[in-house]
Amino acid sequence: MTISQLSLQFDFSLRQHNTFGIDAKAHAYLPVTSVETLHALRSDAAASALPRLVLGGGSNLVLTQDFPGLVLHMCSRGREIVGEDNDAVYVKAAAGENWHALVLWTLEQGLGGLENLSLIPGSVGAAPIQNIGAYGIELQERFHELTAIDMESGELLTLDRKACAFAYRDSIFKQRLRDRAVVLDVTLALPKRWQPDLRYADVAQELDARKLAQPTARDVSDAVIAIRTRKLPDPALIGNAGSFFKNPIVTEQQRNALLERHPQLVNHVQPDGAYKLAAGWLIDQCGWKGKSLGAAGVYEKQALVLVNRGGATGQEVVHLAQAVQADVLARFGVTLEPEPIFI
Ligand SMILES: Cc1cc2nc3c(=O)[nH]c(=O)nc-3n(C[C@H](O)[C@H](O)[C@H](O)COP(=O)(O)OP(=O)(O)OC[C@H]3O[C@@H](n4cnc5c(N)ncnc54)[C@H](O)[C@@H]3O)c2cc1C
Repeated sequence: MTISQLSLQFDFSLRQHNTFGIDAKAHAYLPVTSVETLHALRSDAAASALPRLVLGGGSNLVLTQDFPGLVLHMCSRGREIVGEDNDAVYVKAAAGENWHALVLWTLEQGLGGLENLSLIPGSVGAAPIQNIGAYGIELQERFHELTAIDMESGELLTLDRKACAFAYRDSIFKQRLRDRAVVLDVTLALPKRWQPDLRYADVAQELDARKLAQPTARDVSDAVIAIRTRKLPDPALIGNAGSFFKNPIVTEQQRNALLERHPQLVNHVQPDGAYKLAAGWLIDQCGWKGKSLGAAGVYEKQALVLVNRGGATGQEVVHLAQAVQADVLARFGVTLEPEPIFI
């Protein structure tokens, strides 16, 4: 395959390809359905010299301007059970598969393990990038390995959990392999001895309300879907990228000092003794919930979510984020770090 055989599109609108609904354009756009496309790109001097943006569902991006390079839209498909051992069943899915559709498919196969991660938008290939997490579970707990291509060397990499260096909303793909590795497929290990994970009170309460004392994985998924639908804006109706800031991690000393001044401070102890603060609470306390700057706003039901109130530019989202960060820093001395990637 050569680059001339690829269907590159120019001056391509990304509006339908980012959940914020920001109307930015890509200089060039290419749907990627196989690794051959990526090899062809690498062997073309002009195409490989362009800045690259790997795109999945565009649900963790802020397009701050038109992208002057080549957008590689991961559209590969395929999912299958690839093996099992005493502990787990192994499921492999292509990067371009929709994450939530994969979760539902595993449940249909009678496999539990991903239910707490139901309804997270985006693609399978992006899930390891920030080690997606929700309701007490992170991807790394169900992760087995992935295949990626190193766009610099052309080498195919197989990375296990340790090699991915997963951390809270972080991985090697946001660090050393940033802008370098394209994830091709992900293999998950789903536990054979499944137990519901009800660490999060919201999920336990939802199941209680449904009178499900011994919930199945499907019940937990339904509960998570119901909670998320109540709390989070549907990007098809209100543009957003989910939680806009990471929950800040502070030392016990910082947490105690904050707690003295703000007895209501929402905080959770971490396994390493540090404390995670609820970023949404901090933002709410600064009076931002429901407010707007230009066409970008803070969602009225959840202060952690910034929304596009209609026609917002990436710059408007950035200005709002900066104003929120400045207020939280001034009031609490805590720096909020954005979760989405700014392009
Ligand atoms: C309403 C809503 C709720 C959300 N809830 C959660 C939540 O509960 N938990 C959570 O963790 N996240 C959440 N998110 C964020 C988002 O859904 C996840 O980060 C998701 O994994 C992003 O997938 P995507 O395909 O849309 O990635 P994109 O936004 O397309 O890309 C995100 C980053 O990953 C890179 N990337 C994408 N695909 C690949 C690939 N194949 N190889 C290499 N790099 C790649 C991109 O270059 C970019 O840097 C939410 C978002 C929304 C809109």
